[in-house]
Amino acid sequence: PDVPELEAPQHADVAALLPVPTGESDKYRRGVTGVVAGSARYPGAAVLAVAGALRGGAGAVRYVGPAGDAVIARFPETLVHGGPPAKAGRVQSWAVGPGLGDGPEARRAVKDVLASDVPVLVDADGLRLLDRKQVRRRTAPTLLTPHAGEAAALLGAAREEVEASRLSSARRLAAEFGATVLLKGSTTLVAAADGPVRANPTGTGWLATAGTGDVLSGLTASLLAAGLEPRDAASAGAYLHGLAGRLAAGRTGAPVGASDVAAALVTAWRDVAS
Ligand code: AMP
Ligand code: MG
Repeated sequence: PDVPELEAPQHADVAALLPVPTGESDKYRRGVTGVVAGSARYPGAAVLAVAGALRGGAGAVRYVGPAGDAVIARFPETLVHGGPPAKAGRVQSWAVGPGLGDGPEARRAVKDVLASDVPVLVDADGLRLLDRKQVRRRTAPTLLTPHAGEAAALLGAAREEVEASRLSSARRLAAEFGATVLLKGSTTLVAAADGPVRANPTGTGWLATAGTGDVLSGLTASLLAAGLEPRDAASAGAYLHGLAGRLAAGRTGAPVGASDVAAALVTAWRDVAS
């Protein structure tokens, strides 16, 4: 019944949003993004989220959590912190949630990050741990990035209900949390409480593989750190991520892993920017 207006960004729309460094740029001015992800059980989620973040235009990526060794082994340029997020130093955005688990430290980390005054992207386990009152009280932007199952849990609905009403579900979530919502799926949607909903045109079924969501979280948070509005960061992030999936899979298509998708973000960015 309530079908909001749909927009589908094109290459040029996304190109216009992407940050381009100038002679005045330095790593802090380009933006520092903080990644709170991974656990002893899922260290790979931390690596994939950092992989996405490093390719999203921020000047530096801080990783906070227990998977620092794994992150550094793969990406030595990451600034690694062992303590709580609040002690990690200044960032311009946070991504919190992939592979975090649900222990007391994970819960504290989510709380810490949501208490900050910078944009926060919440994904995966972060969505299970968040305190909704704390989210509603935030003054800086919050971006929630659930898939249908996570969105259903947040809405107290069945997954099938969300699948059957993706547009209005995304909008309802945005209204309930006072947040921007990126609802993942074969057509990823970006919604705020009002205004048109953006539908991502670049998705591909090759993205339906473990870890690709973690890459998207880091990438999108990095775009937030670079100064994009949540709606723009989300739609540019989904666009580049889908394109990277297609480029990694190749013209005829072939199975790829999330690491391949993360690596292809560089080519996707070039493709959009050219
Ligand atoms: P997650 O659900 O967190 O594992 O993230 C999966 C990622 O893959 C999201 O970016 C989804 O939008 C994307 N994805 C999953 N299945 C499909 C599909 N069938 N077509 C296009 N994209 C998909
Ligand atoms: Mg996920």
